[in-house]
Amino acid sequence: MRLILLGPPGAGKGTQAQRLVAKHGIVQLSTGDMLRAAVAAGTPVGLRAKAIMDRGDLVPDDVVVAIIADRIGQPDAKRGFVLDGFPRTVAQAEALDRLLKERGLKLDAVIELKVDEGILIKRIETRVAEMTARGEKIRADDNAEALKKRLAAYRAQTAPLTDYYGRTGQLRTVDGMAPIDTVTRAIDALLEPARTTRRRAKPAAARGASRARAAKAKTARGRAAKRGAKRAAKTSRSRAAARPTAAKGRKRTAKATPGSRKKAGRPVAKRGRSASRTGARKTRAKRLTRAR
Ligand code: ADP
Repeated sequence: MRLILLGPPGAGKGTQAQRLVAKHGIVQLSTGDMLRAAVAAGTPVGLRAKAIMDRGDLVPDDVVVAIIADRIGQPDAKRGFVLDGFPRTVAQAEALDRLLKERGLKLDAVIELKVDEGILIKRIETRVAEMTARGEKIRADDNAEALKKRLAAYRAQTAPLTDYYGRTGQLRTVDGMAPIDTVTRAIDALLEPARTTRRRAKPAAARGASRARAAKAKTARGRAAKRGAKRAAKTSRSRAAARPTAAKGRKRTAKATPGSRKKAGRPVAKRGRSASRTGARKTRAKRLTRAR
C-alpha cells in the first residue's frame, strides 16, 4: 500500500499516518521528521535546512526529493509507505511520479484531509500545550510567526497538488474536521477497494502458477472439445444414415433454387397434412354423390 497524505499543518496527517502504519504494516515517511532528524544530527542536509525550517519556509525541492528517493528504496519500505509532508510542491509531485515509474511502483491513493484554516492555529496551540505538559521539546517552527508562514506556503505551493492529483484521478478527500476515529474510519473505507484489488492481484509466483493451471485447463478443454466434435460428427453421420429417405429429401428440398423454394421448401409434415385433407375432402364428396 503506497499512500500520500495531503493537508495543511495541523490537519492530522501525522496522527492518521501512524494509524495507517499500524494497520497496514507500512512505514511512515515524514519529510518533516527526517529533516528534523538531519538537523539534530548536524548532517550537511540538516545544516542546510535548519534556518529555512525555523522560518517556516520550504526546503529546496532537490533536497527533499533526494531524501525520499533514498528512503523509498530501503527494505522496510518494500511493503509500502505513507508519505506525510511530501510532496509539497508540484515539482516534488512530478519528481515522485518519475521515481515511482522508474521502480515500477504505483500509488494506491492520495488522501486529502480537508480542514478549516481557522481551526489549525487552535490545534497547533493545543499540540504545543500538550507537549509542554509532557515535558517534550517544542518544535522551533511551532510559533505564531512561523505558523503563519507554513500556512501561506501550504496555500501557495501545496494546495495546488489537489488539482494535480485530481487530474490523475488519485485524489480522495476526507473531512479532517471530524473526530480522529471518524477520520480514520473514513480513510479505511476509501482504502477498502484498493485493498481488495491488492488481495486479488496475487504475487508473481502465484500468478505464474495460476497461469500454468489456466493453460493446462485450456489444453484439457481443447482436447475435450476435439473429442466432443469427433463424437458429434460420428453421431450425426449415423443419424443421417438412420434418417428416413423422406426426411433426407426434405433436407435436400430446403436447399433448392430460390424459385422452387416457396413450394418445395414447405416442410413435409405440412405438405402431408394438406394432402391428407384433400383426400378427406374427396372421400366426403364421393360419399355425398353416392348419397344423392
Ligand atoms: P507541518 O506540521 O507544517 O506540516 P512538517 O513537520 O511536515 O510540518 O515539516 C516541517 C518543515 O519541514 C516545513 O515547514 C518545511 O520547512 C520542511 N519540510 C518538510 N517537508 C518538506 C517538503 N516536502 N518540502 C519542503 N520542505 C519540507
